[in-house]
This record gives sequence, C-alpha cells and structure tokens, in this order.
Amino acid sequence: MSARETPVEVPFFDRELETLSRPALQRLQLDRLQALLAEVASSNAFYRRKWREAGAGDVTSMRTLDEFRRLPFTTKRELLQDQLDHPPFGTVLTYPLDRYSRFHMTSGTTGRPLRWLDTPESWQWWIRCWTFVYRAAGVGPQDRVFFAFSFGPFIGFWSAFDAATQLGALALPGGGQDSVLRLRTLRENGATVLVCTPSYALRLAQVAREQGLDPADSPIRVTIHAGEPGASIPGTKRRIEELWGARCFDHCGITEVGATGFECAVQPGGVHINESEFIAEVIDPLTGAPAPDGQGELVLTNLGRWGSPVLRYRTGDLVRLTTAPCACGRTFARLDGGILGRVDDMLIVRGVNVFPSVIEDIVRRHPAVDEFRIEVFKQDELDQIRVLLEIDDARHDAGARDGTVDAVAEGVRTSFGLRVETRAVPAGTLPRFELKARRVVRIEN
Ligand SMILES: [Zn+2]
Repeated sequence: MSARETPVEVPFFDRELETLSRPALQRLQLDRLQALLAEVASSNAFYRRKWREAGAGDVTSMRTLDEFRRLPFTTKRELLQDQLDHPPFGTVLTYPLDRYSRFHMTSGTTGRPLRWLDTPESWQWWIRCWTFVYRAAGVGPQDRVFFAFSFGPFIGFWSAFDAATQLGALALPGGGQDSVLRLRTLRENGATVLVCTPSYALRLAQVAREQGLDPADSPIRVTIHAGEPGASIPGTKRRIEELWGARCFDHCGITEVGATGFECAVQPGGVHINESEFIAEVIDPLTGAPAPDGQGELVLTNLGRWGSPVLRYRTGDLVRLTTAPCACGRTFARLDGGILGRVDDMLIVRGVNVFPSVIEDIVRRHPAVDEFRIEVFKQDELDQIRVLLEIDDARHDAGARDGTVDAVAEGVRTSFGLRVETRAVPAGTLPRFELKARRVVRIEN
C-alpha cells in the first residue's frame, strides 16, 4: 500500500459527542441553550436590557431553536458601545466582577479594542474547546507544543497554551523572543507541534532559511494556526506543509465568542464548527435573513461561556456552511474553505466580487513570493486593485521574477475575469505580521 492509500487515523476528543445524529445534536444544543438563557435572563444586564428593548418577552420559556432565532442579533458595535457607556468592562457580565479572573483584549486592528473577561469556569470551557482542536489534529500528551507568540492580551494563545498543559503535552512559550531565538528554542527542546498564525509560520520558515537551516529538518510534525484565517487556503496550507515537512491544521476562534472550529485529520478543505459548544447560523449580511444556501455571514452563540456569553453574534466572517457528511465521521457542520474573508473586506471591482482569500491562494502557489499586499484605490469613483509581490532579487533572477508576476496576474484574470495590475517590489518592502495580518490596504488618492 502506498503512503497515499494509507488510511488516515481519525482521532477524536469525544467520539460519541462528535458523531451524534443531527436531531440528537440539536436536542443537546437546545438543552444547553435553555440552561444558559435561564442564567443570563436573571443576571446579565446587557442581555436583560437588550431583550427588554426588543420586546422579546420571557426568553426562559423558549422551547425550540426556531424561537431562539427570533431573538435580536448581537453586534461588535453594540459591545464596544456598551464598554464606552459602562467603562471599563461593560455589562455583558452574568456575575459580580469579583468572580472574574481572566482579562483579554482584541487586537483592535479594525478599530477600538474590545475587553473581555472570563470566570474560572468560562476559562475552563475555552480550554475544553481547544482540546477538540488538539485532539482532531492528533496532538496528545507525548507532544511538545511551541507557541510562537508574544503572549500579550490577545486570548488565542493563552487558551491554547493552557489547553496544551491540561492535555498533558509539554507547552513551550515563545514570548519575548525574536524569530531566530524561537527557531533555536523549538529545535533545542524538540518541539513537535507549532502553534502560530499562518503568516508567521511562513515568516519563521523564511528566517530559518536565511540562517541556512531547513525548517523541514526540525521535529515539527503538526502546525496549528490561529489568530487569522489562511490555513484553509489551499495554496497557503501547501506552502506551510512543504516548508515545515508537517501537516498543517486550521483553527478558527474569536475573542468574544470562543475557540469555535477545528480541522479534522481527513482535511476536507475547511473547519468543523464545534456544534456541541456553539450554535451556528448563516445570514445574508445585508438583510439579516437566513441564507438558504449556507453562504453568507456567520452568526454564533456560545453555550458554555456563562460568565460573558454572546447570543446570535454577528461575526463579520464570510463563510459557506455545509452539513454534508465528512469522511472523518463527525456530524458537526463544516465551513467549506474555512473563513472566506471579512464581510468588510469583500471588494467589488468593476462589478466583480473579489475575495482577498482567493488572491492569497493564487499568490501562495508561487514560492518566489515572500509577502504580498493588495492595494485598493479609487479610479473614476470605482474601486480598483493592484497586487504587490515581494520577490527577493538575491534569490531570483529577473526572468524568474517577471515570470512569477505574469503567472499571478494570469491567475487573477482566470479566477475573476479581471485584468489587475501586478507588480514586483524589492525584498523587505512589505510589513510582516505575527498576528492579524492586514494585506488589503486602502490607498487614498
Ligand atoms: Zn471531518
């Protein structure tokens, strides 16, 4: 049997839970939702006020998920406004402040940062959600997990770190280190798992090569990516896997929601939503109506974070949700292709919807490109884009450089039917990111 035909071993965190029939899964969601609503309705000031203003009536009498879907959405704008009105922590707090023990903050790349508090019980729930992520990727007590991250107030890596220790793995923090030192730390301590953003996995591999090291020689066998989408983009995933000689797993999570999704060992091209812990809906981002084909904005409700829950939260993420069976045996719905982009990032260029993630996929198929940027500018009142590709002249001659630029331009033309200016820029021109890469940049002219 060739390596390709070898069946993939499919690990689970809780096989029974992850393979429940859909009716049983919905029953479980409803039971947990009813318990959550009872708690929130009695003491969470934000939701009590919100539901009263919406005329929602007695939410504790809800008997079906359809009834639940009549409650109003929660938006990030509301949460930010609540923290402005009730500084510093706002009122999405089900318990008195002294019950809370964890403070985190969003990166604020798209505006003011949002603060978020957790009780010890809510934190334990986060860790539980992360354990699904690890187990699905086959990570266990025998592993040594390296966290290439600065350990600031961003929640993702703290929760991943604590979950690794609870799993019994050896957790290696990479805070306060530059890329060179991180590479040394992960090699000298025999790290088998690398957790970081997809951008940073590429960056770290590039630094390794500059040091004359082949990252594929390291003992890293699995990479798990959080903090930004990308690891579900086929071109990016393949690039990370080739560079590191490892299997690359996507994960999605949101500070104010939780560790929401994970990729299974079958890797069907996307992530499972952990439906034992979250209720997922997809809506038309313009009208708020349910999207019948499962394509649109993802709306999530977390079922186990009672201290600071969000209900029917508009994530701003564009997705394609499917309940088609997955070869891993899980019944949890999947986001086909992972997070496809932000609702705000979708560009309309000459009448064509352009997803930055599709351009990323095209760019990442070309190993000569170290970094890229999509510039958006106005021409005759219409949005136009140009793609900048950072290619190192020291490693690629002019012929290779021009060939890559032409190939990317042709890829964009084939995918979108658009001719887009594509240009090479010198090494070191474009910014590098450890977290929340911003590669779509609006140029004012
Ligand atoms: Zn699966």
